[in-house]
Amino acid sequence: REQQQPVLITGSTSGIGLAIANSMARAGHPVMLHGLASVEQGEDLQRQFRAEYRVDCGFSNADIASEAGCAQLVADTREALGNPGILVNNAGVQHTADAHGFAAEHWHNILAINLSAAFFLSRELLPGMRAANWGRIVNISSVHGLVASQQKAAYCAAKHGLIGLTKVVALENADRGITANAICPGWVETPLIQPQIESIAREQSIDIEAARAQLIGAKQPLAQATKPEAIGELVLYLCGEFASTITGASLPVDGGWTAQ
Ligand code: NAD
Repeated sequence: REQQQPVLITGSTSGIGLAIANSMARAGHPVMLHGLASVEQGEDLQRQFRAEYRVDCGFSNADIASEAGCAQLVADTREALGNPGILVNNAGVQHTADAHGFAAEHWHNILAINLSAAFFLSRELLPGMRAANWGRIVNISSVHGLVASQQKAAYCAAKHGLIGLTKVVALENADRGITANAICPGWVETPLIQPQIESIAREQSIDIEAARAQLIGAKQPLAQATKPEAIGELVLYLCGEFASTITGASLPVDGGWTAQ
């Protein structure tokens, strides 16, 4: 197996990030796992990855809501795996409320984790990618980076911003073998959407399957949630040889949500 580049995936202890880590490790990439999990949970995950995929693996639970936390994550990654040639900015949080009642604390937190962390981590890792004349940055944005929904002021602002950042990084590094792209998922089956399904089921006294179909069908003509593994495989594709001319793109994976 050829030597694969180490990959840092933020928020990879759960959901989409964990699926991305699985796809990358299966293809032989050393993976830096990261997320707000305990050291014990991190060690368990690393053991699983080493046993299943026989790749090098590290773990950090740095809180990337601050610039210092991002620097810590980069230091932990370099210590575990060396300099990563691939960065996947996936960690994200949500809070819903009308803009006219949106608490400053939630605004700052969402902007810090969903947008600023992607900037600080890219800034730290781009010099190494530029020196190597090769690199991949994949930012997990959302349909909410392309269109809006009510009660998601901070989330939509951050995800739209992340697409702008992606384009600038793509342009500035186009002559250095580095690509930067955004993926824009609609509904993905992760722990993040379960509470929304359960509350529809409760409110309308319908079963979970009917509630899931209703939540997803309200926005997606193709009323099927995307599997996290599908996002993992798309990230792997974007890091591969045949995607070398895809850069600055925002790729919807959304069952037709943004085609309307
Ligand atoms: P999730 O809640 O399952 O996972 C989020 C990950 O981010 C976890 O590993 C968590 O520990 C980490 N994280 C959160 N705050 C952090 C912090 N301050 N410091 C370090 N790590 C932190 O969520 P998910 O559904 O897998 O979402 C992953 C990404 O995909 C997010 O950016 C989300 O906005 C985006 N997304 C999700 C959906 C969906 O339907 N689930 C749709 C579109 C986009």
